[in-house]
Amino acid sequence: MRKLKASILGLAIASVSLMAQDQIAVKYANTITEEDMKAKLSILASDEFGGRETGTEGQKKASKFLEDFYAKVGLAGPVEGTYRQKFSMYQSDWSDVYIKAKSGKKMNGKDFIFLGSADMDKEMKLETAYVGDASDLSNMDLNGKGVMTTARGREALGNLNEAGAAAIFVVSGNDEQFMQTLPRQARFRLKSRLRFTKELSGNASMIFNITKAMAAELMNTSADKLSTDTKARTIRFMVKQKLVEVKTENMMAYLEGTDLKDELLVISSHYDHIGQNEDGTVINNGADDDGSGTTGVMEIAEAFAQAAAEGHRPRRSVLFLNVTGEEKGLLGSAYYADNPVFPIENTVNNLNIDMIGRVDPEHEESGNRDYVYVIGSEKLSSHLKIISEYANITYTGLDLDYRFDDPNDRNRFYYRSDHYNFAKSGIPIIFYFNGTHPDYHRPTDTVDKITFDVMAKRAQLVFHTAWILVNRDERTPVDRTDDMDYGSR
Ligand SMILES: [Zn+2]
Repeated sequence: MRKLKASILGLAIASVSLMAQDQIAVKYANTITEEDMKAKLSILASDEFGGRETGTEGQKKASKFLEDFYAKVGLAGPVEGTYRQKFSMYQSDWSDVYIKAKSGKKMNGKDFIFLGSADMDKEMKLETAYVGDASDLSNMDLNGKGVMTTARGREALGNLNEAGAAAIFVVSGNDEQFMQTLPRQARFRLKSRLRFTKELSGNASMIFNITKAMAAELMNTSADKLSTDTKARTIRFMVKQKLVEVKTENMMAYLEGTDLKDELLVISSHYDHIGQNEDGTVINNGADDDGSGTTGVMEIAEAFAQAAAEGHRPRRSVLFLNVTGEEKGLLGSAYYADNPVFPIENTVNNLNIDMIGRVDPEHEESGNRDYVYVIGSEKLSSHLKIISEYANITYTGLDLDYRFDDPNDRNRFYYRSDHYNFAKSGIPIIFYFNGTHPDYHRPTDTVDKITFDVMAKRAQLVFHTAWILVNRDERTPVDRTDDMDYGSR
């Protein structure tokens, strides 16, 4: 089955590669240069942009940079004349959560870790029983009560919830270790994930991870008597949710086509990254992730804009889209897919670029730097891979590596960048990617490590593929839905 497919593809490629180069396409692809890319990326991935975390000052600076650029190259702003698709997201801040102990107020993130969701107006007083490892809950009425336990497993905690426990205090097995990992835990837990609604979803469970010392204090006993001194005690605590609004925006520029202008190609990247530490001393510049893709989209946009200005407007329209919130869970592209600026049914393809500026360790070692991982091109359409191969054979000569299309590949990259939100909407996509490397999501993902020669070639491949997709007669058919199983997310 697979072999047969490959040979059909080979034939198709052999026949199309006899075709001549499109000299107009070559002319504009050649405007995508190492020098231009370096100039743009040196700004996007500079310390001044502070790692471009969604909602921060750095992200705003990056959005302004994109806005100014698209205006300068003469592309249209498709959102009521602007380049910004603004929206708000929300997150819960749980720093106002405390437990009252004799020695004073114990604070979330400093003395213990709160997991769950609730929002109280005033302190809660809860009779709390010690249940050990919770292996035997028979003869215990826990309904509406607090429980203190050494159990940690999902199942055990589930059983306690089922028994009606109103709050669960999980006692640590090793206080020293607990306090060591607490700051890291707190960074993850004090702020919840960004979401589109003000309301929290899911049930309002309350779990407090506490030290054994604190457990003893709350139960008015000593650490070594905790398991034997089983008298119930009243614990006072407060869970107050602070709702934080995060305002952000997807950035986009539009080039209207000619006779097929109602059909749209989206070329995308994410312009956000993971930001910096609290005092700004450690900045994750995100030069490769995804400064490189964003630079690529800008260069491709500039090439298309120049072509249009010189009389070579594409037949189909093109949307250059730089989304926000990717690092928070593909949120910007999800927002776009739910609130498309142009009809989804007329969106023919998405070419998504996320990390094209580096050579991964394997290719570094083999010396074969002229490669790119091409992901998802066969998933929804039988045409896309052939067009991509044709563009590459004719113009760029990169080694196109399809290994991540293997449904058994454990990295599951097909689900891990913004194209996935287009694919979910039934739009055939290609995801361009250089693979991971030791600097991935680290402060060392910096401009000086970018291989601009390879990056320019990869962007030229995207440009040529886009040029063919927007100018050929036939719209990419969606003719493959379920013959390749990528599994579910
Ligand atoms: Zn990325």
